[in-house]
This record gives sequence, structure tokens and C-alpha cells, in this order.
Amino acid sequence: MALQISERVRALAAEAQAGLRSQFDRIDAIAEENTQKVLAAFQKHRVAESYFAGTTGYGYDDIGRDKLDEIFAEIFGTEDALVRIGFVNGTHAITAALFGALRPGDVLVSAVGAPYDTLLGVIGVVDKGPGSLKEYGVGYRQVELTADNQPDLAGLSAAVKEPGVKAVLIQRSKGYSTRSSLSVDEIGAMCALIRAANPDASILVDNCYGEFVETREPTEAGADLVVGSLIKNPGGGLAPTGGYIAGRRDLVEAAAMRLTAPGIGRECGSTLGNNRSLYQGLFLAPHTTAQAVKTAVFAARMMELLGYRTEPASDAVRHDIIQMLHFGSPEPLKKFCRGIQFGAPVDSYVTPEPWDMPGYDCQVIMAAGAFIQGASIELSCDAPMREPYTAYLQGGLTYESGKAGVMLAVEELLNF
Ligand SMILES: *Cc1c(COP(=O)(O)O)cnc(C)c1O
Repeated sequence: MALQISERVRALAAEAQAGLRSQFDRIDAIAEENTQKVLAAFQKHRVAESYFAGTTGYGYDDIGRDKLDEIFAEIFGTEDALVRIGFVNGTHAITAALFGALRPGDVLVSAVGAPYDTLLGVIGVVDKGPGSLKEYGVGYRQVELTADNQPDLAGLSAAVKEPGVKAVLIQRSKGYSTRSSLSVDEIGAMCALIRAANPDASILVDNCYGEFVETREPTEAGADLVVGSLIKNPGGGLAPTGGYIAGRRDLVEAAAMRLTAPGIGRECGSTLGNNRSLYQGLFLAPHTTAQAVKTAVFAARMMELLGYRTEPASDAVRHDIIQMLHFGSPEPLKKFCRGIQFGAPVDSYVTPEPWDMPGYDCQVIMAAGAFIQGASIELSCDAPMREPYTAYLQGGLTYESGKAGVMLAVEELLNF
């Protein structure tokens, strides 16, 4: 039995897709270049079946794990990298990087407003929660965005000159904020400015949602470290869990001491048979990321044809996989999310409802039906239930399935 999609929505989808040819060509060209980059790294590091064997227990001499570190370093243009299933999520990897780079008395600066929600507790932005950087005596400043929601470059330059500033955190993707995501060029300009103002500060980039969306990564534009999650772009939809850090060797080593224990660092950490998925996921990642970007662009175009506001617009050059869709009121937003859920390959029969999620000041609705729990490289949509009723859509393992999900969401939306 085929999916229940009306002729009207199929016609709208055909019109939307017809207008996206040049945008899709651009996305495909990026995927092609990044695929070649990944393939070249696999060949240089002589990837072989033996790398996939994996270890148990302490995980000493796990050749697949150690070679994958070298391959990530190659791809991100860095001295070193640490790729581990022991990172429970992106927040954990960023936390290890921050604790590795900072010591009591140091100050961390967030370059583009508040960082991602889960990092507030890590840093101790609101209160000195147990185990936070703040509890360990690390200070924090935040450079607010300008009145028109842009990075404040003059403010950044001044902030990093303050006494004690040892690290600067730049978040590439907008995450769930309303600012634009940063391009690698913009991050490069910020890195040059930070370097000139404070040569001692390490520059850490929260790279979540940005990997492989462009042909260069922030570490190729001046950042000292990039950090991200393997259940987003670089896991290619296959990595079952984990995170990565790539960059300057001293910072990577210091983060490894936080991940495991001082003196143990990267030497331990068994891979339990997951190396194959991490390698295959990385191999697919440039393509999978492009599928997600195409799904985002298609969703934007569909909604624009229906008269809704989108951000970025369907013809904009992309810097991450996130698509904002502004619904303006709760009902259409809920319907759209329900449709996304009905289009999922897993849990398609459940109905998402807004709920009180810890850490939010309003209810949140989340639609996702993923093979890997919480994987947002798979099609998902979530929204805080407040003005301006904006949905954040991301993922799509294949453009075809992402497109189907969006068509079902539009079907639900139009179905009064
Ligand atoms: C996903 C994400 C993180 C980390 O979130 P986890 O759920 O811990 O993996 C951090 N920053 C940004 C911008 C993200 O998108």
C-alpha cells in the first residue's frame, strides 16, 4: 500500500522540487568533494578488515579506534583527533574539551550569545551546579548578539582581551536559537580577530550539525578544536553513539584525560565491535549530510509555496542541516509535527504531543522516529510551544524518505 498523499500535495511537491535544481546541484557538488576527501583519508590510512575487529575490556591496542582518530584528524585538517563511543553525546564531548582546555581561575568566553541549552549546566551559566566549570572556579563571559541578531565582532575582540580569558567557544550552528548559523568563512574571520586580540586563548568550535555541509571545516579556517556528536552528521546515520574532538594535539590529549582518567587518557576505551559502523558511517557521512540538507531545502520550498516564512530561505546557501519553519500559531505547528511522525520508518503510529520538558520555560513538541535513539541526522522536528511557533526540522537519511516525511506533514497541515 502506498503512502496516503493527495494529488494536491504531490503536485505541490513536484513544483517545489522543480525549482530546486541549482540548489541541489550545489549540495551534490559539496557531497562529491567531501566524499573524495573521506575516501582519500581511508586510502592513505590503509583501512582494512582488521580495523573492524574491535576490543573488549580495557581496549588496549585497538588499531581500528586509533586509526579512526588519525582519519578524523586528516579529514578535519588537524594534528590529532579523538573519536570515541565512550562520549555519551555531543554535550559530553564538548564538556571534555572545555575541562581539558580550562583551569581554575581561567575565563571562558562564548562568542555568539548563549551556547546550546545543555551547555548552560556544564558551564554553570545560571547557577554553580555540582561539577560545573563554575564550581571548579572557571569564569564565564558571553558576547551578546547585536540588536539585529548578528555576531558582535567589536564586542568579541574586547571580551577576549579581558584578564584570564583562556578559551573561546564558537557555536557553528544556530541550534535552537534564532540567529543565523555561521559559515566557515565567518568562523575564520572570528578566529583571526580572536587571535589578534588574545594569542593565548584556545578557540573551540561546537561543530554539531555543521560537519560536511561545506567543503571546509572550522579547523581549516583557524579554529584550534572542533567537537561534535556521532549521532549527527559525521556518524552518517550508522554510528550507534559517540562523539569526536579534532584539533591541536595538546587540547585533544587534555580532553582524553577528562574522558577517561589522568594518566590513562586515550590508551583505554574498548570499542565492543562498533568500529565497522563508525567507519562505514563516516564513509557515508558526506552523502547522508547532503540528503539532510536537501530535505531541509525541500521543506523550506514547500512551506514557502504555502505562504509560510522559512529560515533559511529555500534558495539560501546552507551552513548546517537545520531548517526553521515559522507557523505563527500552535495548531498548524502541531499538525506538521504529527505528519512528520506519521512519516517516520520507526514509531510512525504514535502521535506526538507537547510536554513539559526539563530545562524549558514552555512545553515542547518533538516528532522523531529514528533507528538510533535521538539521532537528529534522521528526520526529526521539534518546537517550543511559544511565539512565533517555530519548528526546527532536521535530518533525513535519504532525500526520498525525507521528502516523503515532509509531504505527509504538509498533508496533515492541509487536512482540516
Ligand atoms: C546537538 C547539539 C549539541 C549537543 O547535543 P547532544 O544532545 O548532547 O548531542 C551541542 N550543540 C549544538 C549546536 C547541537 O546542535
